[in-house]
Formats: sequence, structure tokens, C-alpha cells
Amino acid sequence: MKSGNDILVVEDLKKYFPVKTKGKQELFVKAIDGVSFSLKPGETLGLVGESGSGKSTVAYDVVGMYSPTSGSIRFKGREIGMLLRERPLPLKKEIQIVFQDPGTSLNPKRTVYKILELPLRIHKICEPKDYVKYVARLMDLVELPYEYMFKYPSALGGGERQMVAIARALATNPQLIVLDEPTSALDVSVQAKIINTLLRLQKEMNLSYLFITHDLSLMRNVASRVAIMYLGKIAEIAPTEDFFRSPRHPYTKMLLSSIPVVSPEEEKYRPERIESRGEIPSPVNVPAGCSFNTRCPFAMERCLKEDPVPVALDAEGLHMARCHLLEMRG
Ligand code: SF4
Repeated sequence: MKSGNDILVVEDLKKYFPVKTKGKQELFVKAIDGVSFSLKPGETLGLVGESGSGKSTVAYDVVGMYSPTSGSIRFKGREIGMLLRERPLPLKKEIQIVFQDPGTSLNPKRTVYKILELPLRIHKICEPKDYVKYVARLMDLVELPYEYMFKYPSALGGGERQMVAIARALATNPQLIVLDEPTSALDVSVQAKIINTLLRLQKEMNLSYLFITHDLSLMRNVASRVAIMYLGKIAEIAPTEDFFRSPRHPYTKMLLSSIPVVSPEEEKYRPERIESRGEIPSPVNVPAGCSFNTRCPFAMERCLKEDPVPVALDAEGLHMARCHLLEMRG
């Protein structure tokens, strides 16, 4: 549900990639096919899905790396496509991205100082005489020692490199950061440190996060709301507590019933086990009707023909899911 103070509003977003021409019929990968959500200042929306679900394509559309096929992305009330055409630099200052692998997202030929100085120069964040002081402040924010300024990324550990990538994203004082699987390329031992740093920075700087991940259990402690994607669509979206305590879509239940729990409280709310069946189909060949029908144990005749629409499951419209069973129950 959107409200007046949303920082980001995405409506009916579609991104199709043409793949090949078979006779006269053009085929498309429907990477995103009608995605809608919103994000408030200081909020984290966890966008979760298996590979091929379209979650990273949403991220790249939001930061302007892809042009949507159709639909709308508004940042602080204005269309991102228009802002990118008219005022690309101010927009890029306000929306930053942290990629999955800092080994490839940081320039190996630049020292940490040079990496962090570049956005200050491009976006004219401060006077050149203040670059060193500002870079030191960024190092403080991510708790890296100052002497790392003179190191190259290859001399740092994976977690330290990701801290540099986070510091680079913070250099422009953004309001929204897209986190594209920021911990999944890292050792488990450093993942918690990265997450804790992100949570602390969010509080200190009132940052909004669009957190892309395949790790559903991670979202329990990180996200304000969680959306689960399946074949380019949001299957279910809900405030985090509702999402984990009363999941309603069969796909969400299937995923939640298979992840390990660590406390009796989590065990209490674990849904009844739904066996995971099959693999996610190719986005070039999305099944007719409900796209989950090839794996859903509850699939009916109607599911093979009709694509379900989102059903509001609470009075505020914060908890929504797409499933014909929910339409029937109301
Ligand atoms: Fe399963 Fe049908 Fe619901 Fe899709 S619409 S999730 S196939 S019951």
C-alpha cells in the first residue's frame, strides 16, 4: 500500500528481454512482469526470491541500469526515467547500490582512498582540500582503520572490501541504498558484521534499503517488510512479523517450512511442511495461469488458466498475496 511519504513507489513494473526470433514470433524473457511496491524513509523492504525470480532486475531498474519495458518507478514523487534524462547526477547521488561481489565492483587498480575520493569529486560533495578528512569520516562510518586508505582492494579480506563498497555508497549522502545480495559472496563469519553495520548506519542516517536476497531467514531480523518474488511477480508481501507468523501463499509456506529455525518461538510459527517440488520454470516459458502451478500441491483447474490477482489480507492492505485459494476465502 502506498502513502504520501513514500520515498520510492514502483507500480506495475515490467522488464522483458528479447531473446530470439522463432519464425515471426519474437520471444521474451519476462524478467519482471507487473511488480508493485513502495518504500518509506528509514524502512527496509526485503525482496526475496530464487535465482531467475527477477529480484535483481528490479534492483537494476530502480537504480537506472535498465530501462523498464513499462510501468512506473517514482523516487520522491518523480519518475526516475525522467530524472535520469533531466538530472542524472543529482539522482545518482540520492540512490546508491552495493553489489554482491566487492571483488568485481571495486576497481583493483585504485587504492581505497582513490575509490572513496571519486564520488566526492564527481558529485562535488566537498572542497578538494577536505577530501582526506571526508574519506577518513567514511572509513570511521564502516569502522575500517585509516591505514587501509593506502591499500588496494586485493590486499583486503572479502568483508573489508564490502565495507569499502558500503563506504563508497555512503559518500554521496544517499537516501536510498539498493543492497544486491551484499553478504552472499562472503564468509559466514563476516556476514553478521556487515549486517550489523548496515543496521547501525540505517538508524544513524535514516537510510531506506531495498534489500535483494535469496536468504529468507536473514530477513527476519533485517527487514521492515518482506516481498517474495516468483517468476517476475510478487507472490506475497507483508510486514515482517505477519510474513513469518502467518504466511498465506503456498510458495511462501513451502520456503518457510524448509528453512532451519533456531528458537522455540520460530518453531511455533513454522508452517506445516509443504514439500518443495521441481525447479522454477524458465522465464522464457512461463506457465499459463498461475506461474506457480507446476510446483503447487494445491493447484486446481482454474490455476492452469487464470493468473491470480493480488488479494489484500488485512484492512490496511499491507499484507497481500496472489493465489486463487485466498480469493475464495476472502
Ligand atoms: Fe497454487 Fe493455484 Fe494458488 Fe497458484 S493460484 S499458488 S497454483 S493454489
